[in-house]
Amino acid sequence: MSRQTTLSDVAAQRTLTECADTTKRDNTPTTERALLDRTKAHAADVAAEHFPDLPIEAIAWEVSHRRQRSAGATKYDPSNGEITISLAWDAYDSQGWEQFSSTVRHELIHAWQFHEFGEADHGRTFDRWTDALDTTQYCKRFKTPTWWIVCEDCDGQLPRYRRSKVVKQPENYSCGNCGGSLRIEEAASE
Ligand SMILES: [Zn+2]
Ligand SMILES: [Zn+2]
Repeated sequence: MSRQTTLSDVAAQRTLTECADTTKRDNTPTTERALLDRTKAHAADVAAEHFPDLPIEAIAWEVSHRRQRSAGATKYDPSNGEITISLAWDAYDSQGWEQFSSTVRHELIHAWQFHEFGEADHGRTFDRWTDALDTTQYCKRFKTPTWWIVCEDCDGQLPRYRRSKVVKQPENYSCGNCGGSLRIEEAASE
């Protein structure tokens, strides 16, 4: 009998929203540099209004051409308090500025959480800002996954983009949320 490995990121992913935003692109940045400039200016405006204590000028920003799984991510280094917000060029390219700016505000909430509490999640301290900042908790995914890992018991779902160990042998893993067994579903292609 094989030992089970707990798949711990199920809980964070239970609600999934497809970002099928079809907003047409207007006269918006066409280079990484221009996108970074606009992003920083937007973040500074939002922070000035809502997070006056957040040292926005200390945040490091990057636009990555490799980032594909989510439109954005915020990293925190507890040893020096450094916050880095990484954004996906492909998300901007496929969704346009309006949706992308929502991701910027989403990540800004995480930056504020890290600054205030030393940790970040999509819980209560996140939730209270989503209306004011006109962003969402989960609208971050922009690439359709190839597979879904589905829990038989709690219906938790996790996207997978590559044929990972879990995709190959789901029987060796259990749901991090409820301990239930997992199955793999091929995602419908579009
Ligand atoms: Zn988030
Ligand atoms: Zn489960």
